Amino acid sequence: MSELNVVSISAAKLPAGPFIARHLIDGDWRQSADGASFERVSPSHGSVVTLAARGGLRDVDAALFAARQAFDKGRWSRTSGKERATYLLKIADLIDRERDRIALMETLESGKPISQAKAEIEGAADLWRYAASLARTMHGESHNSLGEDILGLVLKEPAGVVAIITPWNFPFLIVSQKLPFALAAGCTAVVKPSEMTPATTVILGELLVEAGIPAGVVNIVLGYGDPVGAAMTADKRVEMVTFTGSTAVGKAIVKAASGTLKKVSLELGGKNPQVIFPDADMTSAVDAVVFGVYFNAGECCNSSSRIIVHEDIAEEFVARTVDLSRKVPFGDPLDPSTQVGAIITPEHQAKIHTHVRNAANSGASVRLGGGPLDVPGLNGQFYQPTVVCDVRSDMPIARDEVFGPVLSVLTFRTLEEAVDLVNGTDYGLSAGVWSENVHTCLEFARRARAGTVWTNTWMDGFAELPFGGMRESGQGRELGRYGLEEFLEAKTVTMRIGRTRT
Ligand code: NAD
Repeated sequence: MSELNVVSISAAKLPAGPFIARHLIDGDWRQSADGASFERVSPSHGSVVTLAARGGLRDVDAALFAARQAFDKGRWSRTSGKERATYLLKIADLIDRERDRIALMETLESGKPISQAKAEIEGAADLWRYAASLARTMHGESHNSLGEDILGLVLKEPAGVVAIITPWNFPFLIVSQKLPFALAAGCTAVVKPSEMTPATTVILGELLVEAGIPAGVVNIVLGYGDPVGAAMTADKRVEMVTFTGSTAVGKAIVKAASGTLKKVSLELGGKNPQVIFPDADMTSAVDAVVFGVYFNAGECCNSSSRIIVHEDIAEEFVARTVDLSRKVPFGDPLDPSTQVGAIITPEHQAKIHTHVRNAANSGASVRLGGGPLDVPGLNGQFYQPTVVCDVRSDMPIARDEVFGPVLSVLTFRTLEEAVDLVNGTDYGLSAGVWSENVHTCLEFARRARAGTVWTNTWMDGFAELPFGGMRESGQGRELGRYGLEEFLEAKTVTMRIGRTRT
């Protein structure tokens, strides 16, 4: 499609051979006990970019044994907050040092633009630094008004051995939303990255070893959800699971974890709306919608995959959105100018296309795109920027996570109607409102059932602010002090302090 901005193959060179990824268990880099391995093919270039050990039950068992021992022997939990913070800060510095290497592997495995991968690694380093500050300021409570001879203490203690399971769309950022907070709290961990994107978590493991984290405190097992993730979530030695991924797998994890009543923290999918009122700054809103729907090729839990625009301005808003969409550079993720890269797998590309076709067959109108994108010189899978109008709220494209560069447009007349549409899906991750009227923004913010509400902005994120979902978008919160609390247990200690008891 010549009217789109397509970036053909860049001059950037691919590495000579695949990245070799092994498990990190008790401080050692290991092949799988049964010698199995798997390959990751780049979604943009079609070549094998990673050769990874494929974990089985024996590898999970060894990793859990190591994490359990490290926890029970207090190799990490009994260190001071100051000591833990020192390690976390050192790891942040090492991440900065390795930024370009990590970003390159992230791009090769996930297909995301290199400029965005670099920004993601910088953001991740910031999370390690923020978690270091929490490690030093963690504290419980004391109660000295319970009676003259009694003192109550509330101690904050690490939850124990934590299973960390991550998805492919922001592999390095998401492991950094969990692991440094778990470590700040004093937990030990077994990490399982997605089978699509194992390399960057392995590089993180190398940096942890270089920083001198004691053996067994962080273990990494590579491989598939079944058996690796499933075995981790069911095992008695794990006290907490923190998972980011699809709602379907989140539900399976809750079931598997229920056998041992583990604590479960879940960051799941979203169908995030941006609502545009007639008094909005239209230029800023169009920019934010275009950014929000195409960022990470729409393969983003926070993708603003549906807009709900007031009918008085809908036609102009859509026309400007389509116009700007044509200018966004789609193509080779290794080119620094590219803003939208490849789709993670051919199967996922087919799923995106089915959503668009079904919507068109049900009466929606495709105003832009609507099919696979050919990028000259590349042997991967891409999808056109796509804008679908005349969408009804009962259509799957308006309710399900499409996870592609596809925008659904719905319209409204009153705030009441807009709120009903916003809250009318099973999800509740994030929502946005655009209006110059602070009362409209605040009323919307209070009525939207979403863990985050952005007003006159989209996708701003800060280490200091909690992030998470309501309803089927998840449970628990990451980041901010809440992100640390997830990994802590409260223990009550009651002390009689009189010398004699009469
Ligand atoms: P996914 O659920 O398919 O896989 C996520 C991880 O779970 C992978 O490591 C996978 O191997 C593992 N897994 C699969 N089956 C398992 C099982 N039975 N037991 C334990 N682990 C298992 O998700 P994905 O396709 O990798 O990622 C995309 C999804 O993640 C989207 O739904 C997206 O919205 C969501 N996501 C949410 C957030 C958030 O913060 N809310 C952030 C990023 C991604």
